[in-house]
Amino acid sequence: MLIIPEREIANLMTRKAAYDAVERVFAAMASEDAYNFPVVREAINYENALYGFKGGFDRASRTLGLKAGGYWPHNLKKRNMINHQSTVFLFDPDTGKAKAMVGGNLLTALRTAAASSVSIKHLAREDAKVIGMIGAGHQAAFQLRAALEQRDFERIVGWNLHTEMLPTLEKVALETGLPFEAIELDGMAEADVIISITSSHDPILDADQVSPGTHIACMGTDTKGKQEVDPDLVARATVFTDEVAQSIAIGEAQHAVAQGLLTESDIHQIGAVINGTHPGRNSDDQITLFDGTGVGLQDLAVAASVVDLAVANGIAIDVDF
Ligand code: NAD
Repeated sequence: MLIIPEREIANLMTRKAAYDAVERVFAAMASEDAYNFPVVREAINYENALYGFKGGFDRASRTLGLKAGGYWPHNLKKRNMINHQSTVFLFDPDTGKAKAMVGGNLLTALRTAAASSVSIKHLAREDAKVIGMIGAGHQAAFQLRAALEQRDFERIVGWNLHTEMLPTLEKVALETGLPFEAIELDGMAEADVIISITSSHDPILDADQVSPGTHIACMGTDTKGKQEVDPDLVARATVFTDEVAQSIAIGEAQHAVAQGLLTESDIHQIGAVINGTHPGRNSDDQITLFDGTGVGLQDLAVAASVVDLAVANGIAIDVDF
């Protein structure tokens, strides 16, 4: 079995490799070559931790496995460790034998950023110039860096409930040489692409704060009860997602569906656009919305990619297991 420790991931994995892995697996999901297993998520009544498994099988790339992990809220204060902890396990689909154990913390951030980036590549207007960020936490910097690679953006605008966190976005702007402006939410009307990545439980962005032709990637809502945008905005948009069942159950679309503003048949898999079986954006005035809920197959795809990179670089630790 190969072990790729968390400490090696940053040196091995690139945004490009994460993008390619996630785009490929979204395509495989839409062509029914890949499917996710039911998610297990448990409050374990110990350390206030949430622990669970996300697994799946991609027959196209022969990737089988699971991500195990969750959220330990006291890690940072008590142990100076990050609160989100995860590990990916890959298995040989021919034999069931354990194949690799891979640190999953940085990979989770990269695969989530790759998802909104894939949606921008396939759904945003080609002439998009202004990107709007809602959220300025840990994940926001990853989303923004990946998004900037998809269009010739000229300006970044950003809003965050906690304004003291906005330097997260300013730092990426500085790195990339683009101007950054902190705005009120009405200013989002200037954005051609908007990414929301917050842990909000109430709508932040209203339907009238978005201009025709905008692409919105809603990435923060990954649990029942979370919400980032007005359900009327979801209803007005053409909605795409990683996995339709998750979009309805735990994604941004859960609220519009519950209110009868949207039905399952209104939600399209982003993989269908990648495969060319759905046309995607059909006009410069259309609002497109990607409901990125986060699926286990994304984790397996980036982990498989990093295993290949680790082997090629002679970094994988081979243990007799
Ligand atoms: P973080 O704790 O670093 O940042 C949280 C962000 O949410 C900050 O911008 C904060 O200001 C904002 N926020 C907190 N409470 C808010 C409220 N009530 N209203 C509006 N904004 C609020 O978290 P993170 O790691 O950046 O993750 C952000 C969100 O993305 C979380 O909800 C997380 O579960 C989700 N996430 C989704 C995926 C996916 O695949 N879709 C993957 C990873 C994380």
